[in-house]
Amino acid sequence: MTLNKFALGDTIGIIGGGQLGKMMAQSAQRMGFKVAVLDPDERCPARFVAHHFVHAPYNDIAGLKALSRYSDVITYEFENINAEALEVIAKENHVPQGFETVHILQNRLSEKEAIARSGATVVPYRRIEGPADVDAAVREIGLPLVLKTVFGGYDGKGQLVVTEKAQLEEAYNMADGNVLVAEKRIALDREISITASRNLQGEVVYFPVQENVHRNQILFSTTVKQAHEYRAAAIAEVEKIIHKIHFVGTFTVEFFIDKEGKLYVNEIAPRPHNSGHYSIEACDYSQFDTHILSVLGYRLPKQIKLHSSAVMYNLLGQDLDLMEHLFPEHPEWHVHVYGKEARKENRKMGHITLLLGDDTDTYYPIYKELMK
Ligand code: ADP
Ligand code: MG
Repeated sequence: MTLNKFALGDTIGIIGGGQLGKMMAQSAQRMGFKVAVLDPDERCPARFVAHHFVHAPYNDIAGLKALSRYSDVITYEFENINAEALEVIAKENHVPQGFETVHILQNRLSEKEAIARSGATVVPYRRIEGPADVDAAVREIGLPLVLKTVFGGYDGKGQLVVTEKAQLEEAYNMADGNVLVAEKRIALDREISITASRNLQGEVVYFPVQENVHRNQILFSTTVKQAHEYRAAAIAEVEKIIHKIHFVGTFTVEFFIDKEGKLYVNEIAPRPHNSGHYSIEACDYSQFDTHILSVLGYRLPKQIKLHSSAVMYNLLGQDLDLMEHLFPEHPEWHVHVYGKEARKENRKMGHITLLLGDDTDTYYPIYKELMK
């Protein structure tokens, strides 16, 4: 593998043109690179910040080949691309992230198995292949349980929480003909995540520990401050995982903390993550900057400096409706609007980041009022 083989003006191909692809493209262009984007949506956010656009489904080999003709290096903005299609492309093109990691992590079962094998702690879980396995999971793990589809879930989609026996019928129906994972529903004290980047040379840099609040299983806010009591424990878990799973670029590990203070790995996103968006304004490198540095085989900064404690709030369709008229009055909100065509309820349309200074425990009062 030759490193630093890229010249300014070379093209980074991104599979997926959503907000993550858009923010990656913006980092890449700032550093002097061109960007090509593949997406099935002709009016996706990243299209309008890219030099080249390929209009194709994520798993379309001809489309991926068209993307690779433009590209000196290929990356992806989300993991639900087809790992087999990526494998075909990776044989003939420079795909520093490879296809194996996507293959493992896009399936919740193989993801959990790989994390557990690495020695990191996961929530007790069981494979479900039909209604009888639901009964077995209730016997082995007990209630409450969360059933999750193995492929394609995000923002809580494809999940069923089973708290009492009366809901079992629904669980049997979900399990009928489907492979699922059943996991113990943790009585959560907090949720945290940690974003990291790793380059081809194996250098790793960690962002601050992110405290995440979810509403309706969708990320609502992320708060970061200079020090976090779980930082060492979280990094120790990530180190176990990256010993076993190949990561290049930015990735995020999500954790649960239960009422006893015990830390569990929930899931891993092998790409920039919603909980890392604050880094654009609050850190000296954003998670997108370090992603681009990593896939180019550039050196990574030794550490990430957090300029100020910060909070990020997502703007869903309904939030934009409520908040849009306030933007002109609030330059301190650091508004990001992704440019998605259709404004829908619970669809992530943008986010805002507030730099809190030393005021670590304060959530911005106006926004809280509005969100009641
Ligand atoms: P995704 O983010 O892919 O939709 P997650 O597995 O991260 O799926 O679930 C989304 C959210 O649902 C979590 O961040 C957490 O708030 C809640 N959740 C999921 N699984 C559990 C669990 N086993 N115990 C408690 N809460 C859970
Ligand atoms: Mg999640």
